[in-house]
Amino acid sequence: MSYSYEAPASQSLFDRASQVTPGGVNSPVRAFRAVGGTPRFMVSGTGPYLTDADGREYVDLVCSWGPMILGHAHPEVIAAVQEAVARGTSFGTPGEGEVALAEEIVARIAPVEQVRLVSSGTEATMSAIRLARGFTGRSKVVKFAGCYHGHVDALLAAAGSGVATFGLPDTPGVTGAQAGDTIVLPYNDLEAVQEAFHRHPGEIACVITEASPGNMGVVPPRPGFNQGLKDACAKNGALYISDEVMTGFRTSKAGWYGVDGVAPDLMTFGKVMGGGFPAAAFGGRADVMAHLAPAGPVYQAGTLSGNPIATAAGLAQLRLLDDAAYEKVDAVSREIQGLVAEALAKEGVAHRLQNASNMFSVFFTDREVRDYEDAKRQESFRFTAFFHSMLAQGVYLPPSAFESWFVSTAHDERAVERIAAALPAAARAAA
Ligand code: PLP
Repeated sequence: MSYSYEAPASQSLFDRASQVTPGGVNSPVRAFRAVGGTPRFMVSGTGPYLTDADGREYVDLVCSWGPMILGHAHPEVIAAVQEAVARGTSFGTPGEGEVALAEEIVARIAPVEQVRLVSSGTEATMSAIRLARGFTGRSKVVKFAGCYHGHVDALLAAAGSGVATFGLPDTPGVTGAQAGDTIVLPYNDLEAVQEAFHRHPGEIACVITEASPGNMGVVPPRPGFNQGLKDACAKNGALYISDEVMTGFRTSKAGWYGVDGVAPDLMTFGKVMGGGFPAAAFGGRADVMAHLAPAGPVYQAGTLSGNPIATAAGLAQLRLLDDAAYEKVDAVSREIQGLVAEALAKEGVAHRLQNASNMFSVFFTDREVRDYEDAKRQESFRFTAFFHSMLAQGVYLPPSAFESWFVSTAHDERAVERIAAALPAAARAAA
């Protein structure tokens, strides 16, 4: 199957959207600014495929930026949603669905003794940081360049994802006061962390890190890095916060914690746990969580927190994610990575495939990417050519060189064959 480059129905929708929405989108990376061209407006998804407004089908390697680990419109998730929605959409009271989802999270992830449900990853990290500050009575927060924790004011310093895509050092609208307590350090650099604790004795409330970063492209922690963070925090009376919004319930049954076994004080979740709905969470040590209102003094709340439809979708998705499901996602991820590497090598294109379990991305560079500076040194123009060739051939990649690619249990042989068929031309375009 081949596709023309034009996407008239998407373009017409984009023109309409641009009249009423800044940049025509509700989240910046969707606008294709980094790669150019017309953002595709999708109308439906089934399994590993998306269909756009022009009626073209794409193999989806974005999976809604991670959540759709069972593919689109999984029948059991859809049935759970239909069953829940028929009973009403929001009550603003406690409900059994949110208890069951919290129990599922606590059962899967040992360091999470208690959990609070929210509606987005941004809310989760924002609330975890407030709680860490409230618990420790300290102000400063350590984060790493290239890590993205949502659009929390204090964390939009040298952030990854869209901030990396657009080359922004930080963002107007975040005041010096809001970012003044944020210490930004190079990723994978434990000495820098020790030095920060040395320079700010008794002032650092927490260190927040992506459990295994995917927002500067996939840049896993070096062996011992996360353990080193935990030890440095413990020694200095700070909390270690592992942001698993992207890796949680994706990189293993227990997320990245299931891979490296380093127990954080607090963790944040989103994406997969919502089954494609707005559900997210933060949780961790019971003595820390006890500081949260109404049990304790640190305030946090949400009209739609624990929404019955979102919790039903999330629970249905999590219950389907057994060991076999992860083996399947890991295997198809490895297969696609192998195909990409082979196609690029054949054309002599310098590249590095980096992965964290089934999350992966390709960097157009011949050097290992260990931090944000390395990531920025890649030849992004090659990604742009590669991206458009894949898109024209019906494979939908994240429209940025600074993002992870995502696969699902639904990525079957036919989907992989379509990717394989598209790769030779894309590799030639990148050469
Ligand atoms: N933390 C991480 C690691 C993320 O990848 C993201 C989103 O991509 C967030 C937090 C923010 O989540 P949300 O977009 O749901 O606010």
